[in-house]
Amino acid sequence: MYILFLGLPGAGKGTHARKLSLEYDMFHLSSGTLLRKAARRKSAGGQVIKRYISRGKLVPDEIIVKLIRKEIMKFQEKDIVFEGFPKTINQARELEEILDEIEKEINFCIYLKVDEDRLVYRLTGRRICSNDGSIYHIKENPPEEEGKCDICGANLFRPAGDEEKIVKKRIKAGKKRTAELVEYYKQRINVETVVGTDRSPGEVHQDINEIVEKHISDEK
Ligand code: AMP
Repeated sequence: MYILFLGLPGAGKGTHARKLSLEYDMFHLSSGTLLRKAARRKSAGGQVIKRYISRGKLVPDEIIVKLIRKEIMKFQEKDIVFEGFPKTINQARELEEILDEIEKEINFCIYLKVDEDRLVYRLTGRRICSNDGSIYHIKENPPEEEGKCDICGANLFRPAGDEEKIVKKRIKAGKKRTAELVEYYKQRINVETVVGTDRSPGEVHQDINEIVEKHISDEK
C-alpha cells in the first residue's frame, strides 16, 4: 500500500508519517529528510541543496525527482508512506510516471489540515534527531534531556529553514501549492482530511489509524 501525506509545512506530516510507518512496518519516504541528509554533504551538490533549504525555496525538480526515484526503486517492494513529495503538480506527474514504471499507484491521501497561525509556532520550535530523524518540539514535545534524542541519545538539531522569517515564506508559498495538490488528488483518488488544529498528536494519530484500517479492510 502506498499512502501520501498532504498538508502545509508544520501540519505534522513528518511526525504522523513516521509514526504510521513504524506501526505498519512501512518505508517512510520523506523528501525533507532525504534533502537535509544530502545537504550535510560537503560536495558541490550538497551545498546547492543546502542553499535552497536555508532560503525556504523548493529544490529544483531534477534534483529531488532523481533522489525520490532512487528511493522508490530501492524500497518498492515495501509499503511506502510518502511525505513532503510531491509538493507541486509537476512533481505529482513525475511521481505518477515513476509509479507507472513499476505498476504501482498511490492508494489514498491523508490531508492534514491545521490553522495557519499554529504552523509558525510548530515549525520554529521543531528539533530533529541527527541520527534517527525523531521529531520534537521544544514546548509541546520536549526531549527528556535538552538537545538529546529520547530514543537514541544523539544530538537534536534545528533544521535549516525553520527560522521565523523563512517559515512564514514557506507557509505563504505552500498554501497555493497544497490547495492545488489536494484538488489534483481529489479528482483521482480518495483524499481523507484529518483536522489537526487544537488536537493532540494522539487524537490525530487515532484518526489516521482508523482511516488506514478502513482502507486495509476495503482492499481485502
Ligand atoms: P519539509 O521538511 O518537507 O518541510 O522540507 C524542508 C525543505 O526541503 C523545504 O523548504 C524545501 O527547501 C526542501 N524540500 C522538501 N521537499 C521538497 C520537494 N518535494 N521539492 C522541492 N524541495 C523540497
